[in-house]
Amino acid sequence: MDKNKIMRKLPKMADLLEENEIKDLMEKFNRKYLTEVLRESLETVRVRMMEAFERGEVPDKSENELKDEVISIAASKLSFLPYSLKPVINATGVVLHTNLGRAPLPEEAIERIETAARTYSNLEFDLERGERGERYSHVRKLLCDITGAEDAMVVNNNAAAVLLCLSALAFGKEVVISRGQLVEIGGSFRIPDVMAQSGARLLEVGTTNKTHLEDYEKAINENTALLLKVHTSNFKMVGFTSCVTKEELINLGRKHNLPVMEDLGSGVLVDLKPYGLPEEPTVQDSIKAGMDLVTFSGDKLLGGPQAGIILGKKEYILKIKHHPLTRAVRIDKLTLAALEAVLRLYKDGLWQHIPVLAMLTEPKDAMENRARKLSEALERVLNGRGRVEIVDDVSQAGGGSLPGSEIPTRAVAVSVDGISAAELAERLRKVPVPVIARIKRDKLFFDMRTIADKDIEKMAEMVGEAL
Ligand SMILES: *Cc1c(COP(=O)(O)O)cnc(C)c1O
Repeated sequence: MDKNKIMRKLPKMADLLEENEIKDLMEKFNRKYLTEVLRESLETVRVRMMEAFERGEVPDKSENELKDEVISIAASKLSFLPYSLKPVINATGVVLHTNLGRAPLPEEAIERIETAARTYSNLEFDLERGERGERYSHVRKLLCDITGAEDAMVVNNNAAAVLLCLSALAFGKEVVISRGQLVEIGGSFRIPDVMAQSGARLLEVGTTNKTHLEDYEKAINENTALLLKVHTSNFKMVGFTSCVTKEELINLGRKHNLPVMEDLGSGVLVDLKPYGLPEEPTVQDSIKAGMDLVTFSGDKLLGGPQAGIILGKKEYILKIKHHPLTRAVRIDKLTLAALEAVLRLYKDGLWQHIPVLAMLTEPKDAMENRARKLSEALERVLNGRGRVEIVDDVSQAGGGSLPGSEIPTRAVAVSVDGISAAELAERLRKVPVPVIARIKRDKLFFDMRTIADKDIEKMAEMVGEAL
């Protein structure tokens, strides 16, 4: 056996680069990167051959076979490079799952994102006058028409909206807020911290469970800039509690010539009570009551892209627009394109097209078909290796919306022989299209509320892969 002679059969880089398959790949990938991948693949094959020698084997592949082996290794490295940000199937039943990206967008919005991404646009160009225009102009009228607000603008998210409003209206001055509303919204958004960042001084009044109008009134002095109400969007206080209503706070503001602002958090535009969902104050209610400024998220109950919407009186919006922070928290054009499309759905009375609202309002019975389809597909995949049943359960709105809401739902519960629910859940996170589910009583629950019809086949396939 002539080891050197056999090793010389390994393809040369120059020859590899002349192969048609590689030339095709060259059109898609950078040449330097491709050469690097080929070099690594060559090395893999070389090592494999050396190991074969060490085991006393004599590799007897032809030059062509070796060339194919290198190319196939390289191709697999290239085409299977997974994207880091990728689709997952949300089987948790939490409709607004912040960690899973909150609101999936309606088709109408996706089309607008695509168009805005592909071409130039009149983003900040006034086509009437042929001069510089305003980014907000594309959604301003829609927002005012839908909510009754006098003026509107949009920023990157609601945290930015709150920060910006406080900076623009209360820098170096005092903002009065109830102790019961000093909330933390997951992660790092805490009202007192945001307030500190804005340069406004927090003046907390009342107690955790009760705040009265005179508590606010006593706190007002010549340094007061703003009265703030924060919607306690992710928790519910029960028992011996009371807070001041919007109307009372607005009247107090008028009396002292102070603006009143409300951070609504979710900002729902339609009344969801007829669908059996808990009462959530609508944006229209706040505007109608006379709030001077209202802020809310674009990707919570509104069901749109991540954005922060600011509505209110012209004089305040103008002040906010001219604040230097505005540029730092500017909304991007793709988001704006999506937001315009979503708002048009509201304007046209087509809010059922918005996936978040469609999912939240879907009656339990309507899920039966999907549940049956999924359970049949899973039975097939399991092939007797476990149990699949359709059960009643509850979903949640999530995303700090509709706190305490328990929305009746149908779920498919699965247990697999010899694999714990935790183990199965872990395996399902590692398949190409991860499926995120709930564990309950050592079973995996797939909540049909957040599973679309088109996901079902893929889900079954992924469960098969996980086994
Ligand atoms: C969610 C929420 C925020 C933060 O909104 P983002 O759009 O996530 O930045 C602020 N305030 C309240 C009351 C919220 O519920």
